[in-house]
Amino acid sequence: MPYQITLLPGDGIGPEVTDAAITVLDATGVKIKWDRALAGQKAIDKHGHPLPEKTIQLLRKNQVAMKGPIGTPIAKGFSSVNVLMRKTLDLYASLRPVKSLKGALSRYQNIDLVVVRENTEDLYSGIEHQVAPGVVESIKIITEKASTRIAKFAFQHAKTEKRKKVTAIHKANIMKLSDGLFLDCAQRVSKAYPKVTYNEMIVDNACMQLVLKPEQFDILLLENLYGDILSDLCAGLVGGLGVVPGANIGLDTAIFEAVHGNAPDIAGKGLANPIAMILTAAMMLKYLGENKRAQAIERAVNEVTAAGEVLTPDLGGKAKTQDVAKAIAKLV
Ligand code: ATP
Repeated sequence: MPYQITLLPGDGIGPEVTDAAITVLDATGVKIKWDRALAGQKAIDKHGHPLPEKTIQLLRKNQVAMKGPIGTPIAKGFSSVNVLMRKTLDLYASLRPVKSLKGALSRYQNIDLVVVRENTEDLYSGIEHQVAPGVVESIKIITEKASTRIAKFAFQHAKTEKRKKVTAIHKANIMKLSDGLFLDCAQRVSKAYPKVTYNEMIVDNACMQLVLKPEQFDILLLENLYGDILSDLCAGLVGGLGVVPGANIGLDTAIFEAVHGNAPDIAGKGLANPIAMILTAAMMLKYLGENKRAQAIERAVNEVTAAGEVLTPDLGGKAKTQDVAKAIAKLV
């Protein structure tokens, strides 16, 4: 029986990188029946809504989806479809493994950490209003329920992946109530995992420490906004947004999408690095229990980056998106 998986190609570089990931998935021999769905501007044009009911139903039915990035208009227009999708399906955990690939892709080697980001609340609650002309308010929501379940997710991930440490990142010296609650929950959950070391770090210091001594980190546990920002920082440690995969996971549904956005500056030119999306596809295979195929993809990606001959411009090469995909597919 083939796996039935929802495919949201997204926009910007989304269709290019999801096509590239499918080229590599096909090479592993895994059988997938894709159900294509629309979201974002393309969905508005066709169905009058950025996240049509039809798309939500497909995501619910298949429970697993691969998604390209979907752009969000800046400071106007519709709210982020990426955020809406995570909230609608309660995909509360964003999981982003940040691992050095072989080859000279960045200033650092041997980085191996995981960003666990809360996905449903914080300043992403989207509650903003004008109090008076020239004064606006944006509300940060932190709840015990969401903070506890993301902390449990981080510690459970530490246990299953045999990782040693969880660092909760916060600004509780300033936001004593909200970030204070987040820390309380993390501390309480940590007690149930005595074999996993637990520590805390203020977010600005964490940024500096990540640049100075990234090897001290293992799993980073973060609220939504800090998680967004530190995900890009961590991506910079291993070669940039073009190489970091990701997943948004709920109780019964998961959407696999790379950390990067839709990169309109390079869209449609074959310049996008497909490695992030290809490694995202490998994460999806692992989630489905296809460990051998997932490992084969990771190995092939590392062979290609180690050789350094077929790389996109963000990694200093001249190859096109599909050239990289084909080179990886050949080695799977
Ligand atoms: P979002 O907030 O939607 O995640 P972002 O603001 O982080 O998006 P991106 O769209 O991810 O922005 O792009 C940031 C920069 O990284 C851009 O210069 C873009 O070209 C580059 N970039 C992102 N993804 C890739 C990729 N796969 N390959 C090469 N460059 C990329």
